[in-house]
Amino acid sequence: MQAVFKSGVYLPEVDLWLDSTRKREFSLISHAHSDHTGRHARPVLTPNTANLLGDYLDRSAPVLLDYHQPYETPSYTMTLHPAGHCLGSAQALIVSKETGERLLYTGDIKSRPSPTNEPLEVVPCDTLVMESTYGRPEYVFPEQEQVLDTAYKTLRMWLSRGERPVVKGWRLGKSQEILHHLLAQGFDVMAEESIYLGTQVYLDAGVKFPGHVRMFEGEWPDGWVLLFPPGKKREVLKGFSRKRTLELTGWAVGGNTPWGWAADASLPYSDHPDFNELVEYVKAVGPKQVYTVNGFPELAARLRELGYPAVHLNARGHKQDAGFQMKLV
Ligand SMILES: [Zn+2]
Repeated sequence: MQAVFKSGVYLPEVDLWLDSTRKREFSLISHAHSDHTGRHARPVLTPNTANLLGDYLDRSAPVLLDYHQPYETPSYTMTLHPAGHCLGSAQALIVSKETGERLLYTGDIKSRPSPTNEPLEVVPCDTLVMESTYGRPEYVFPEQEQVLDTAYKTLRMWLSRGERPVVKGWRLGKSQEILHHLLAQGFDVMAEESIYLGTQVYLDAGVKFPGHVRMFEGEWPDGWVLLFPPGKKREVLKGFSRKRTLELTGWAVGGNTPWGWAADASLPYSDHPDFNELVEYVKAVGPKQVYTVNGFPELAARLRELGYPAVHLNARGHKQDAGFQMKLV
């Protein structure tokens, strides 16, 4: 099956949109991050993604699909499979009724274990459409345990000096993972409102946390760590002195982050695979054709070296490199 990228992935042979960011009649929403969503007339998504999106889909008629539950049309069957990236995140397997071809769209995935997400499921396929967020060879992350140990030590050091630690992590997904790890270590943790509300959806979905989180409401008792999302205005923190910021992001590997304000410490912790893990995932699902989207073209180049016909589709809808483009399936 052919795949094209234009504000989302489109499969012309079966007339299906995947993670379109423009409003469509019918589109998959693989997970609740805003760069994958649109207010579609009929979005198809997991119940937990719908819960996380809250009133965003008020004017839509969502098609809720549990993992592994088939959605049938005359031309294909679609099933959703855990992506490991955040609560409810899904890969979509589309099986053509005409040819039997299996196309897997990953959305965003995370292959490392998480205490708060359904684990990534390896789904064998013929055609793979895969994210390539960290699709450059320099993006190789250290062991997660090692990164977390450094984070705990840094936070304890700051607390012992009477400083106020702010931990930056994406509102949804990464923040809940970090929260789980910090509570397990016995830290007292407060969360900014949007992180707190996201965490309530996790709790409602049955995710267990090893302690309680408090919502930040303008009070900051001594000894408490604050979880705060990047990009959020920090005016509310102005009155508090001696703040120290720890950011947890895969971009820490490259030494620069895509957003503005500086952190006192930056550690590589991501809700995406690193370069090697992306390559490993391709090997694990064994495709005959690969399209990479949402990231760097270097991944497709490496995959071609390994013998996979692979092409990167860039954000303007163009194939970014020549590579193999023949249709093999
Ligand atoms: Zn995402």
